[in-house]
Amino acid sequence: MKFNTKTIHGGQDNVDPAYGSVMPPIYQTTTYSQSSPGEHKGYEYSRSANPTRTALEKSLASLESGEYGLAFGSGLAAIDAVLKMFKPGDEIISTNDLYGGSYRLFTKIFEGLGIKFNFVRMQVAGDIEQHINDKTKLIWVETPTNPMMNIIDIEAVSKVAKKHELLLAVDNTFATPYLQRPLELGADIVMHSATKYLGGHSDVVMGGLVVKDKELASKLYFIQNASGAICGPQDSFLVLRGIKTLHLRMQRHCENAQAIAKFLRSNAKIKDVYWPGFEDHPNHEIAKSQMSGFGGMISFNTKENTLESARKIVEKLKVFTLAESLGGVESLAGHPASMTHASIPKEEREKTGVVDSLIRLSVGIEDEEDLIEDLRQAIG
Ligand SMILES: *Cc1c(COP(=O)(O)O)cnc(C)c1O
Repeated sequence: MKFNTKTIHGGQDNVDPAYGSVMPPIYQTTTYSQSSPGEHKGYEYSRSANPTRTALEKSLASLESGEYGLAFGSGLAAIDAVLKMFKPGDEIISTNDLYGGSYRLFTKIFEGLGIKFNFVRMQVAGDIEQHINDKTKLIWVETPTNPMMNIIDIEAVSKVAKKHELLLAVDNTFATPYLQRPLELGADIVMHSATKYLGGHSDVVMGGLVVKDKELASKLYFIQNASGAICGPQDSFLVLRGIKTLHLRMQRHCENAQAIAKFLRSNAKIKDVYWPGFEDHPNHEIAKSQMSGFGGMISFNTKENTLESARKIVEKLKVFTLAESLGGVESLAGHPASMTHASIPKEEREKTGVVDSLIRLSVGIEDEEDLIEDLRQAIG
């Protein structure tokens, strides 16, 4: 089955054995009747499993070319489950430019529990090796990175991981499986904030993991059930519905972002535009080989390079909404330094380029002309 067909049918055979409904029913139930103690139809209690969630988990596994999907109450709950596989003394190597909430979870929760994190620039995969020792267990990669749009070569990092017998996890939230499938490139775990493009309509908070290996899946399933950070059946249904148009939405997100990136670059008041589709983007060749498009996310800063210059632009936007989050049908603008990345200390974030005038756009699927006109009037 090819990708666009998978968004609609992947893992969805026989979702309603009772009546043949085309969409899976929303099984809004906590428990399931048993004919005799321990004799049931595959479901006992909805923390452990729920048929609507199962339908979504199978769809996620299919989209990412994996075998097992696990859905959680948020993207961070999914990351939390991965990290709970490790013990005090273990070390994890992570990309240095990553989602602020992931950084906070790593440093404020898991570092306190005795896990050590090394934040490393991974644009050259070989540079990772000097940080590996016999305590290292996992490499955590986000690509494209948030908000600087750096691209990391997943296949090259997976070779490093395999050589040292480490697990490789990839946060695939920005690219989505439509553009990039990390398991096909050698990763062991793919993570999603389904809150973003998979849900796609800014109405659900959810997370997901997909793996190929059975043993890894059973470890993660044990944590999902034992810690209990699952998502509910209504939300599972909504994300499944969102996924059915993922390919169409992503196509338009990519087209609109390309037009906007070019417009911003030609604007005299704008300094840097970060978008992996530019031929002079430092990791353009890798983006071209591991992704089938360049995505809907763009960051830029102003020549004036002050907080005030960024504030003026985002306050004047009318079609773009100033808001956290990304990946919905509507265009959003964010100010990472004061919003999504406020939890990262100023010196840390400026090292990676998150300066005070940086603005991040999640380009929606409206008409490109309206989006460009909106940016033109706001930049002034
Ligand atoms: C939003 C986001 C997360 C966290 O997901 P939630 O659903 O908000 O918990 C993790 N990684 C990336 C790249 C994100 O954009």
